[in-house]
Amino acid sequence: MIFKDKKTYTVFTGGAPVLAQKAREITEIDDEVKTLAADMLQAMYLFNGIGLAAPQYGVSRQLVVIDVPADDDEANLSPGERLLCPLMPLALVNPSIVAASGETSDADEGCLSVPDIYAPVVRPASVVVKFTTLGGENVEIECGNLLGRCMQHEIDHLHGILFTDRLAPAAAKKIAGELADLKKRGKKNGFCRIKKK
Ligand code: ZN
Repeated sequence: MIFKDKKTYTVFTGGAPVLAQKAREITEIDDEVKTLAADMLQAMYLFNGIGLAAPQYGVSRQLVVIDVPADDDEANLSPGERLLCPLMPLALVNPSIVAASGETSDADEGCLSVPDIYAPVVRPASVVVKFTTLGGENVEIECGNLLGRCMQHEIDHLHGILFTDRLAPAAAKKIAGELADLKKRGKKNGFCRIKKK
């Protein structure tokens, strides 16, 4: 009997060069891009994430996948949550932030590329995000709550920025030891987390 090989999914961790690069724009949404989005989505679910950017998957291109729930408070929903959350999961091609609120919010973040480390990040409370869907539709919409935070976190990845780069000095100091350990482990394991499905 021949056993079918299980497919391997890799997520790169802090210290990997691909995470520090600016990702290339996607000029054509072809089958390669669609397959990449599907593979990234599998990896995101396998590692229990709510968002994954292509550089985390080792590909320096401007592609993000997300599966983010809307806020529990119906009255508090942003236009982006009303439009996008019922359509999740979503792939965002060439996403960018075109405007940000002056109001900020402060919440703990984690990242599949920074496993088991959580720290508070201050970000604009809502942002206007522009992206193209895999179907080629252009969207520009205001996203708040968890969706707004996730959009900012994932778009940061496309610019080579990790949430740990955005910490206030006190928060950075608190996780400095854990982060150093992660990078030390990374040097030994090629900055890779690998799972099979
Ligand atoms: Zn991340």
